[in-house]
Amino acid sequence: MIEPRWTRWATAPVPRYTSYPTAAEFQDRFPRATLERWASALDREAPISVYVHIPFCETLCWYCGCHTSVPNGYDRVARYLTRLHQEIDLWAKRLAPHGGARHVHFGGGSPNMLAADDFFALMEHLREAFAVHEESEIAVELDPRSLTDEKIAAMAASGVTRASVGVQTLSPRVQEAINRLQPRDMIEKALGDLRAAGIDAINFDLMYGLPHQSEADIIEAADFTADLRVDRVAVFGYAHVPWFAKHQAAIDASALPGLKARFAQAEACAAALEARGYARIGLDHFAKPVDPLARAAADGTLRRNFQGYTTDPCQTIIGIGNSAISTFREGFAQAAKDMREWTDAVEAGGLPVARGRAISDDDRLRARAIEALMCNLEVDLETVCAEMGAPAHGLDEALTRARPMAEAGLCEISGRVITVPEAARMLVRPVAAAFDAYRDAPQEGRHARAV
Ligand code: SF4
Repeated sequence: MIEPRWTRWATAPVPRYTSYPTAAEFQDRFPRATLERWASALDREAPISVYVHIPFCETLCWYCGCHTSVPNGYDRVARYLTRLHQEIDLWAKRLAPHGGARHVHFGGGSPNMLAADDFFALMEHLREAFAVHEESEIAVELDPRSLTDEKIAAMAASGVTRASVGVQTLSPRVQEAINRLQPRDMIEKALGDLRAAGIDAINFDLMYGLPHQSEADIIEAADFTADLRVDRVAVFGYAHVPWFAKHQAAIDASALPGLKARFAQAEACAAALEARGYARIGLDHFAKPVDPLARAAADGTLRRNFQGYTTDPCQTIIGIGNSAISTFREGFAQAAKDMREWTDAVEAGGLPVARGRAISDDDRLRARAIEALMCNLEVDLETVCAEMGAPAHGLDEALTRARPMAEAGLCEISGRVITVPEAARMLVRPVAAAFDAYRDAPQEGRHARAV
């Protein structure tokens, strides 16, 4: 149960900390020359990761905060693919020699909007351009409503190893309120077909805090997931930010559960999954104890990047496509969200960067502390400073910022170790914000609430 004294932090806007500095701190008109310099300075031996953004969906789910649109026919998708292939060539030409790609992630939108042959050709091109290793993880986000046998076969033939399936809720009433009608037998069929094709590492995304949702709904979804022996589960809270995601205005805000109910739903889902043998990981993930994500959480090697919790240790992530974010040791670079702008940049023959941020040693130090807390619910300031070559007291100001939260029971401070207790796990983000040097900027309208 959420304690009344936590309300102040639970209702305050706070980043999800999938990066630090967060995308809200990126600067407009980021110089392409800087990105090209980063791209040409990779470690020759170090592996890289590749993220490919497919910004199309068959219909829009009203809760969605992703950068996507409905193409109304395949022509727009086909034109986008042509530019995507061009961008792959641009990157391949400019990237310094590297250790090859170990992870490829297709996100969106719905990557299964691509026709079977187009997906296969895209993956072939990526393999050739980025020297994708034979044993790489190739993950795809999937919408079961637009999945066909042919597309599954193409993904299997392309070497896809992991599928992340959007489930969200099983309740017909909630599905109607979010414009995502998806009967349970459709999900079961998708899962059966994926496994039959050899794609047997499966993630489900579930949600709480949706309009008309109840604890019983979310428990039903958790049990359904466990019955299907799904390996990993992400349980996201619906963030109502219609000023940012315009189509969320279609959601009836008066039907949204309040703070207490949201907290209770998240905890009920966690209890149901834990009762079925799942390990609880970080803020909002669950995995079977034998799954690599659970093993990484147990041995302290879990990471967090723009795709959320991951086992991927790569420092360099090449983001390809409209709005995609690339990560380098030196900073972040994001392609234009505006399709015309991104298209023009690719056609002009330069890496398509619109926004970005160079990161300082101080950013890197804080990023490591935030990542440790988000992954392990604990951070030893001394260890992080030593690991990052910073002065031993380089993060001590965070202790002062965390003190009021410690007094409220959101975290514990012992010496220079900050720990988030199990009961406050869902509020790890406000505690992580104690390390955020940009928190003094106005946060309203930039991020969703903590719970
Ligand atoms: S939730 Fe997924 S399927 Fe729905 S609109 Fe967003 S990206 Fe598309």
